[in-house]
Order: sequence, then structure tokens, then C-alpha cells
Amino acid sequence: MLENISPPLDRDQLIMQAAALADHLHRAGVQWMPRPNEQAVQELKTRLFSPNAEAEGAGNAAASTMEAPGAGTQTPVSRPDSASLSAANPSAAKPTPAKTVPTKSAPATTSAPTAAGASPLLNAVAKPYPGASLPLAQRESELVALASEVAACQKCSQLARCRTHTVFGEGNANARVVFFGEAPGADEDREARPFVGKAGELLTKMIQACKFSRDDVYILNTVKCRPPGNRNPDPEEIANCRPYFEKQIELIRPEYIVCLGAVSGQALLDSKLSVGRLRGRFHPYFDSKVVVTYHPAYLLRNPAAKKAAWDDLQMMLRDAGLL
Ligand code: SF4
Repeated sequence: MLENISPPLDRDQLIMQAAALADHLHRAGVQWMPRPNEQAVQELKTRLFSPNAEAEGAGNAAASTMEAPGAGTQTPVSRPDSASLSAANPSAAKPTPAKTVPTKSAPATTSAPTAAGASPLLNAVAKPYPGASLPLAQRESELVALASEVAACQKCSQLARCRTHTVFGEGNANARVVFFGEAPGADEDREARPFVGKAGELLTKMIQACKFSRDDVYILNTVKCRPPGNRNPDPEEIANCRPYFEKQIELIRPEYIVCLGAVSGQALLDSKLSVGRLRGRFHPYFDSKVVVTYHPAYLLRNPAAKKAAWDDLQMMLRDAGLL
């Protein structure tokens, strides 16, 4: 029994965990929590996790576990019960992993994202979302106002002419995880809800496999109107709709954004790389960690890729301390 008890944390590890917790609480909208001192946190991260940390005399258990990128030990986090997944209570502290060290891009892979148990690393330093994090009620009211604006939007003449409804997005405005798709299809256009067709059924199963429900997460698309014939949205349409999805994500400030397919991954990360080259590692988007994986519609056509998609979701769950 004793072997299950984690060794006590040293001072620096405690400071890092406190900074990560404060960062998370701020993002979750807890207004009384002072914003962590970004400069001090960055200095601490540099001191703890720089490759020369040990040589500089700052060596400690945390540094020694991070010196081999991709093979380090994850910061210990407690596993929350299922109620904490919904983040319905913004004051409930959810375990937030410490930000990780900047590193060069990992090679593209179609296999499992990282070695078993490895702590995946971000490719660059994440920066805070601009402005203050809003309380849940205010996030929800701002999302409602934004949805009204979208419903009247005519920026893409063809899409605005062809749509039955705009499909704004739905879910928990305080979600830890956002699923970010491509564009509404025929079913979504009819029901004004994202991911309700066959691909939506598979996405729901993927969400449930993560031990979430659709109400725990937030689901949105890159463009809010259905492209005719289910074609991909063109760059101009994505640019037109960008302020809407950027504002949605900024209001929610999730810990993780799961991009479903190349369109959303490339739009969010401003990349031209394929899903095969983007998946298997985390990318920073402000404070959020981005996971790129295959779109459920692609998985329906290529069931062999489901294993890779599950690997990507497991990478996120491990990082979140949920696996
Ligand atoms: S796709 Fe977005 S920007 Fe284009 S008309 Fe629809 S809501 Fe407006």
C-alpha cells in the first residue's frame, strides 16, 4: 500500500503545480484568483526545464524527468471523478498539467503518438488568451449574442444563399475539451446543430470513449454554413468565418482543442500540413493544447484509421491525467 503513495514534492515542483492550478482557475473564470505572474512562471519553467538546468545547478527531480523530450515523466495529477469532467462548477479545481518545454517539431508519424506513458510536449511556448477570462454566465450570454450575429451573417454570398440554418456550435461554455470540425453537412444544416449525422454519431462515441458526454464538451465547426455539395469550405469562406470561431474558443478557453480533420487543423494552426503530419503531438493555441486527428467522416470511410484517432485521444487523456 505504501508504494502507491507519491513521494513528497520539492519546493519547485510545488510552485509549478500552484502556478498551473492558478492558471487553470483563471482560465475557468474564477475572478478572485490573481493572474499568475507570467514572467516569473516563464523564468521558473526555463530554470526547471532548460536542457542545461542540471548543469546550472537547478537540477531537481522535475528537471531530470524532462531532459529527454518525449520520454519524460508526466507531472503527477490526481484523477478526477466524472462530475469534474463537465466543469459545471468553475470553482472546482481540475488537474492542469504543467506547461511543457519548447522543442523542435516532432517527425510526422501515423503510429501511436508517443511512447507509452511519455509526456507529450508542445512545440512552442503557449501564450495566454487576451483579456480576462469570463464567468460562466457571461461566457454563455456572449456566445448567445455571437450566435445571433452569425445567424444574420451574409459574408459568404453562396453559403448564405444555400443554407437552411447557420450551425453555430453547442455545448458547455466552460468545457475542458472543444471538438472543432470542418463545416455543417446536410443533417446539420437541417437541424442547426453540429455533428448530428452519421459522422456525428461516431463523434459522440469518440467523446463517450473519453468518458465525456456531449454536454461536457463544446462542439463547433470552422464555418457555420453548409458548403453546397458538401465541398470543403474555400479559404475566403474560412477567413470570413474565422472571427466567429476564434471568438468562441477565446470565450471558452478550453485546455484542449481536438481538430477533426485537415480543414480545422490547418485553419486553427495556420498550417498547410496534412492530418498525418499534424497528428501525434500537441500544438499550442494560446493557453490551449491542440490535438489534430482524423475527421469522423474520414473514419467512417477508413475504419483502419480509428486506431490512430484513438491514440490521439488517449494522448490527450493521458496528458490531462484522465487515463
Ligand atoms: S460561413 Fe460564416 S462568414 Fe460565411 S456566411 Fe456563414 S456565418 Fe457568415
